[in-house]
Amino acid sequence: MSRTVTIFDTTLRDGEQTPGVVFPLEAKIKIAQQLDKLGVDVIEAGFPAASQGEFEAVKKISNLGLESKICALARIVKRDIDTALDSDADMVHIFISTSKIQIEHTIKKSRDEIIKLAVDAVEYIKDHGRICMFSAMDATRTEIDFLKKIYKAVEDAGVDIVNVPDTVGIATPFKFHDMIKELRGTLNVPIDVHCHNDFGLAVANTYAAVLAGANEVQVTVNGIGERAGNAALEEVVMILEGLEGIKTNIRTKELVNTSKLVERLSGIRMPPNKPIVGANAFSHESGIHAHGVLEDARTFEPGVITPEMIGHRRRIVIGKHAGRHQIKKILEEAGYQVDEEKLTKIVNKIKELGDKGKKVTDLDLFTIAEVVLGELKREEKAIVVDEVTVLTGNKITPTAVINAEVEGKRKVTSAIGLGPVDAALKAVKELAGESIKINLTEFRMDAISGGSDALAEVYVTVEDDEGHSFTAKGAGEDIVMASMEAIIHAVNYLMLMKKKKK
Ligand code: MN
Repeated sequence: MSRTVTIFDTTLRDGEQTPGVVFPLEAKIKIAQQLDKLGVDVIEAGFPAASQGEFEAVKKISNLGLESKICALARIVKRDIDTALDSDADMVHIFISTSKIQIEHTIKKSRDEIIKLAVDAVEYIKDHGRICMFSAMDATRTEIDFLKKIYKAVEDAGVDIVNVPDTVGIATPFKFHDMIKELRGTLNVPIDVHCHNDFGLAVANTYAAVLAGANEVQVTVNGIGERAGNAALEEVVMILEGLEGIKTNIRTKELVNTSKLVERLSGIRMPPNKPIVGANAFSHESGIHAHGVLEDARTFEPGVITPEMIGHRRRIVIGKHAGRHQIKKILEEAGYQVDEEKLTKIVNKIKELGDKGKKVTDLDLFTIAEVVLGELKREEKAIVVDEVTVLTGNKITPTAVINAEVEGKRKVTSAIGLGPVDAALKAVKELAGESIKINLTEFRMDAISGGSDALAEVYVTVEDDEGHSFTAKGAGEDIVMASMEAIIHAVNYLMLMKKKKK
């Protein structure tokens, strides 16, 4: 029978303690709803005593009627605990310092006093009928005998679960494994762990703790949190499920969506090489790998997890490492017939471009193919833009108006946006409207030269409703026009491809 480990998410509490991150109430609610959809067992919604706004946010989330249990953090101080109880949270998570360094410099109390405070707080919370979690703050720098003593005392007082936090991120997997094993052998209540990533070991330590018998893990989406962050939810869950066969209650198909939502609302961008949810997690450029993956994805992917499992997509990327096989396949899928000789020419041109340090887009590949094949399809455009007007300023809502010919018919569209680029892109989306539903999945802008007259290069990835994606670029001094050029190139191709397939 396989074990199930429960997931305690602290994106809204420790995650919000990431330097520079603030989640307004609306954002907190959206994240809580998504975490509930994802299936986390507990959502730590915040620290109600920290501010009135924080109290209101926790109260609001506690009353959303979510399936996940809602937890509120509190110091072992009556006012904190009462505020947490008033926030209607199902669970109160209390903590007190137990390490020598923190006791001496921050709380300045005897160890017996600390135990008494913890026990009284647990009894008080249990008397109010709530679930109680106790954390010995800085547990990994606390003498093990004292740690066992305080955990045992709160267990006797009726605590529901104890948390072992590696508050400053100094644990290492083998030592942490031994420590959790020892505590597991001493205690009867479930054990939860909270690891920080100061040495890049948060996920490894969390994983080691589970193997040692920890029953629950504290994680954050994308690993955001104080300093170098916490253990990343998506990584811990997929290690347990994919590599160890340990179950969680997570609906893994929601992992990418959840990561993207938190990325957007926190402003903390994920690098493309981020495990599991990063843009490149299932992308292949090298010819050898792409060839293998096109035959059977398990050849050059872990295999135990697939992009579909976590709501991701596999991408075969064009670049200087690309092989004939994948280029031929991409071209054929787009409706180009190439013989071996022409394919060689196309492949060589792609490699030349890559060697010059250029990012090769789909548009580049198709342009090269058309030149080599002598069929200039680019003359045939689904959308021909005649006029663009963009208004922006401090007292106007950014607005874009486009006058264009779409598949031979005159069309004028307008849209408002967060800024001029957003408005223009929305107006293009409108233009494509009935013919094709498009989604902008990637947008990157580089300034090629310095100064306010810098040339901007815009790279976009556009996806249609059937999941076909297309990368293109545009360049110019005007960022709005460069962005429009890139997106219109991409939309034109997707529309032509669609027409061709019919
Ligand atoms: Mn923390």
